[in-house]
Order: sequence, then C-alpha cells, then structure tokens
Amino acid sequence: MALAEYFSKNLLAISQVLKNGNSGQFQSVLNNTVIGIAFNKDALKHEGKAALDLTVRLVARLYPKIKFIDLNAGDKNLVINLKKLASSINSKIEFVEEEPTLIIVIGNSAVERIATQGAIYYIGSNSWVAKFSPENPLEIGESTNPLGAGVAACIGASNIFRYVFADFLQSPESDDEFSLSLITLNTDDVNATIKTKQLDIGKIHLVGLGAIGNGFIWALSNAPFLKGTVTIIEPETLALSNLQRYVLAEEKYIGKAKLQMAKDALKESKVDTQIFNGDWAAFLNKNNDWKQEMVVVAIDNANDRIGIQTSLPKKIINAYTENNVIGISRHFDFGNDACLVCMYMPTGQRKSHSQEVADNLNLTQHERFIRDYIFYNKNADDQLLTLVAQANNIEIEKLEEFKGMPVQQFYSNVVCGGMLMELRNGDAVIEHIEAPLAFQSAMAGILELAEVIIDKAGLRKEKMQTKTQLYPLSPIKQVANPYNHSLTKDTSGRCICADADFLNAYKNKWS
Ligand SMILES: [Zn+2]
Repeated sequence: MALAEYFSKNLLAISQVLKNGNSGQFQSVLNNTVIGIAFNKDALKHEGKAALDLTVRLVARLYPKIKFIDLNAGDKNLVINLKKLASSINSKIEFVEEEPTLIIVIGNSAVERIATQGAIYYIGSNSWVAKFSPENPLEIGESTNPLGAGVAACIGASNIFRYVFADFLQSPESDDEFSLSLITLNTDDVNATIKTKQLDIGKIHLVGLGAIGNGFIWALSNAPFLKGTVTIIEPETLALSNLQRYVLAEEKYIGKAKLQMAKDALKESKVDTQIFNGDWAAFLNKNNDWKQEMVVVAIDNANDRIGIQTSLPKKIINAYTENNVIGISRHFDFGNDACLVCMYMPTGQRKSHSQEVADNLNLTQHERFIRDYIFYNKNADDQLLTLVAQANNIEIEKLEEFKGMPVQQFYSNVVCGGMLMELRNGDAVIEHIEAPLAFQSAMAGILELAEVIIDKAGLRKEKMQTKTQLYPLSPIKQVANPYNHSLTKDTSGRCICADADFLNAYKNKWS
C-alpha cells in the first residue's frame, strides 16, 4: 500500500468533482496508475526547477506510484532530492520502474513513444507565460520568475487528473497546445518579453495559510527578485488531512503551527517575513495598526472576508476555490470599485449548521438530535455512534476510536477528513465541505502573487475587470477560460461601500 495516510481526504476531493464511481473504484484506479515525471537539463534553470518542484509537490499528494525519468539532466543528485521531497509528502510513496500510465515532461526534450502507451504532456514557461502541449516539447525560460512555471505545473496536474480519471468525467477533454500570459490573463497577445527586475513589493499582509496561502508562499519563496515585507496571519496548526492540498506541507509539520512551513520556505527569501499566530481581528487589536497597503485574502469564509474589508485596507486581492472554479478578485478602489463585501453580501436563507452536519452524517431526519449535541458540545457517545453506523451501513467498531470525542471534533475528523466517505464505500456526495484538488488551490495562490507583482510594478496598461475565473478541469481556451467578469457594486444600499462613514474613513486614511 502506497496511498497516503491522508487518503480519505483525497477521496473526498475526488468525489466532489467526479459524479460517477465510488471510493473503491477511485482507489483501484490510483493503485494501478504510475505517473512518469521526466526532465532534462532545463530543470536546472530557475523556471524549470520551479516547475519540477511544484509538479512533484502536487503529484506526490495523490498518486501512490511515481517513476522519475532523467533525460540526461546532468545532475545525479536531482532524482535523489526529488525522491526525498516526494517521500516527505507521502512516506508510503513507491518509486517504480514499470511503464508509466502517462508522462509529464519538463524541459525541451522529446520523450520516445516507446516509454509509455499513454499520454505524454509537455509543460513549459517563459517568465509570465505558462505553456502546455500534448505533442511538442516546450522551452523553459531563462528568468527567475516562477509564476508562469508554477501555473504550467498546476495545469499539467489538471491534465494528469483528467487523463487518469477519464472514465469518471463527463467530458474528459485534455488541453490543446496553449500559452497563457498571467499579465493579460489571456491566450492571445502573449507578451513574453516583459522581464522582472528587482522589485520592492512594500508591506503586504497575507491572511490565511491554508491551501491557497500555501500556493502564494510557494511562489513567493521561488521569486528571488522580490524584496519587501510579508506579514502572515494564521492561527491554526497543521492537521493530517491538510496534506491533501497544502503544497508546502510535509508529514513532519503535522501538529505544528502552519506558520512554521512558511518560515522554513522563506528562510532564504529577500522578503522579510513577519508572522502572527492568530486571526485578523486579533492581529489588528494586538498591533493597533490599521493601515494595511495591500491585504492578500486566502481564507475560505464570508464573515472573515467582510471583517477584512471593514478594516479598510487600501487594496485587497482575494482568491477562492469553489464548485470547480478558481477565482481571484481585485478590490483596489473602495467606493468606486465593487468591494469585498459587495461580493459576499449575505443573500437569502442558508441551511443551518446543524442541518448541514445532520445531512452529511446521513441523518437528515435527526437534525434536532444533532443540534443538541452541537449546542452543548457533547461528546460522541454510544447513542450517536450507533445512529451514524446504522445510517451509513458501517460497522460500529470502525467508529469506536471516536467515542468520547467532542462532537465538532468528531464531525471534522469523520466527515471533513473524508473518513465516513471511505468507510461507507458509497457514492453519496458530501455537501458544503470545501475539498478542492491540490492544483486548484495552489494555482489560486500563485495567481494572487502574480496580481501583487503586476500591481506593484504597474505591468497592466488597462484596468482588469473585478473577477477572473478559471475552470480547472476544462481546457484553457482563448477568452472563454480564463474568463474575466465585471462585478458591479452592490446597489441595495446595504453594503459598507455605500455608507458615508466608511467612505470618509477610507478617504481620510488613504488620501
Ligand atoms: Zn461594497
């Protein structure tokens, strides 16, 4: 067995995008898949190194068998180090010599057709431009900008996923050859000539070191041309199930503060790293500093986003992953542009938390019973465990280890961690628990750093629309994917950006 310790969380993520199939089938597909990762001497360039590093960080979290294929890179230590990295992410991973199911290639070398009967995908980059081809080897640029390379690795991982799980996808279309500029966020007008020089990003604040924040810090740690200060605000410690999609996470970090991963990753960065072990509100109170030039939002709930906008930073860059979407939004001009609250205005009735918990435990009719457990934060006892076991057709012994655990913790382990899904071996969909695939979150974080740099360096001639969305399991196509949306300001008058006090406060603060 080489599936990761946190495999149940992978199962949850997979089952959210694949509507057919059950966990037994997904597990068997993964156990029968070998991912070939090939590279040549281009992997020694800065961009190539970044593409290869992120590819391994994405692949090793999900696929249990890897074959590294050295196309004469000329550095014997490379494979040794890549194996070390993959094992640090999944200590049970296997390095095999058998024929790969498919191969992803980094570097301008063709892979012989005899190497695999399956697909061969090439990824490449040139500074801001990410490239992909299912046919032709691609060049790797000479810059120290990791962003095009990082996005190429994410799209490569998406194509691997679509190929491996093709039987379970409605339209498993792979990408055609494309180049995507992160500046224009378009596939035409690709301008590869923009060079990055030394750039001061000033003082930025990253709120949240979850999956998206991991993508952001991965990119930052691979951008040696940047200087400035980043303050990272995050209160939690790393849980086993986080490894499913945190690109910086290794097994050794489990149980430690999430901030530790960022500190280690940025050890050699010229960007000064400040950390705050707490949430946004605690950060503001503790430091009594309410003047943030640029806040990068990498959290996953509306309330905290509203709290950040309410504290009136000058500029906000936001990212989200939901329903098969990667999204970023820009909020640079409070009062004129749509603000972050406009985007997350509470609308209509939402399902109550207790109903959500009851539904996800397959106990829809027992909401009242569940509500009591949550309200009094009771421990999971025989009565609850028996009910859950019966409703999901699993043996009560399998739940024995959770007896005595506070109900929220029980829920987070059993449902959010994907364990219930794995145990019941069925095809029921778990709702309202965000479990994106690793490349989806990583790409959202990389795009956020791209937006920071583009803004600081003034690289966009024209103002972008508020939101850009990418559909990560669909091919990148001119204009349609990524898609830029305008977001109009809230017109109901309820938003803080229509409130005279907030508008004045923003003006006084930043004029
Ligand atoms: Zn607003």
